[in-house]
Amino acid sequence: VSDAVEGRRYARVRLADGSVRYVELAPKRTMLLGDAPWLGGTVAGELASPLDDQARGSAAQRVAPVTPAKILCVGRNYRAHASELGNEVPAEPLLFLKPSSAIIGPDQAIELPPRALSSRVDHEAEIAVVIGRRLRRATADEARQGIFGVTLACDVTARDLQKKDGQFTRGKGFDTFCPLGPCIETELDVANLRVTTRVNGETRQDGSTSQMIFSCAFMIEFISAVMTLLPGDVILTGTPAGVGPLNPGDVVEVEIEGIGVLRNHVA
Ligand code: ZN
Repeated sequence: VSDAVEGRRYARVRLADGSVRYVELAPKRTMLLGDAPWLGGTVAGELASPLDDQARGSAAQRVAPVTPAKILCVGRNYRAHASELGNEVPAEPLLFLKPSSAIIGPDQAIELPPRALSSRVDHEAEIAVVIGRRLRRATADEARQGIFGVTLACDVTARDLQKKDGQFTRGKGFDTFCPLGPCIETELDVANLRVTTRVNGETRQDGSTSQMIFSCAFMIEFISAVMTLLPGDVILTGTPAGVGPLNPGDVVEVEIEGIGVLRNHVA
């Protein structure tokens, strides 16, 4: 985590005039930023009603806190999840991509594909790393320093298509299959965080990032040996055990201690 931005929280909002802005969530204040926080995040104003002020409400609507050029995902990064699907733990990170067109923000709808196309769509709660600087062939140190912050993600997966295709692009790539948010936290030590999923209030996944096979820094080092990571790129770091199906009308909540709750409903 970069020293320059330690302990800050960022989000993105759509304002009443339709414009979309990065914001910094300060105590009782919401600062409007002129650019993305990882590009400098110059303060350019303040919201009249702070985003988290329940009493006064805010005209601003939260959207996904980042617009990555690419979303990298690491599969089977928790031993218990690999075995629940009958898979071996990989010897090196198993990489795949999700398209940026799959991103939705908090409180937006996950849209299930037509049943003729897929009849089994699962939730996967994941901690998502946001990259803060350009990284190519990063050393372990550069990888650590390249983490801007972390947010929450749900790696929504059409499990039947993932199995049928033998590769992940279609099963992981539907529009709305990548809820992100609600905010980016820059201070957290990601080594030991509780990750949970609730569906309609019932706990489905309950794990800890301490169970991850490959660390965030190692994943960044590994990925940047293949492709350049750009500021704002996002890495989904794998899901703990307990994945399960989503049905129309469900409300899915991903929670990671210290960051918050990412809530979406299923349409
Ligand atoms: Zn996943």
